[in-house]
Amino acid sequence: MNEASPRPLAEIASYHAHIYYGGQTERPHAEWLRLRIAERFSVRLGAWHDQKVGPHDQAMYQVSFANEIFGSLVPWLMLNHGELSILIHPNTTNPRRDHLVDPIWIGRPLAVHGDILPEDHEAEEALPPNTEPTLPA
Ligand code: ZN
Repeated sequence: MNEASPRPLAEIASYHAHIYYGGQTERPHAEWLRLRIAERFSVRLGAWHDQKVGPHDQAMYQVSFANEIFGSLVPWLMLNHGELSILIHPNTTNPRRDHLVDPIWIGRPLAVHGDILPEDHEAEEALPPNTEPTLPA
């Protein structure tokens, strides 16, 4: 750090959680987790990626969520991830830094091939939720 002003929270337009699973042995817990997330949180659940996609080094699905959800979803994932690795990254105008420098991990960190990501990009707002939560977290 230097004498410059700190980066403001306003840089963060939204967050992603990437929920990784190691093939068919871990997929059942990933399925269990996805259903429980849907029951409890207003988020956008992304498609299943059983094959590696983008910068990700393992099968996963994405959860896009608004800043207001962070304080409940992330602790809940800490308690419920089981053996799964979860990458939580902010969405700013620098996706490469978001993935490689500034994320947090729940569980065991995995490789992320962020070198393919741009360093200057329009920050992604939280995608419209596709869940209808009915249960408390
Ligand atoms: Zn992401």
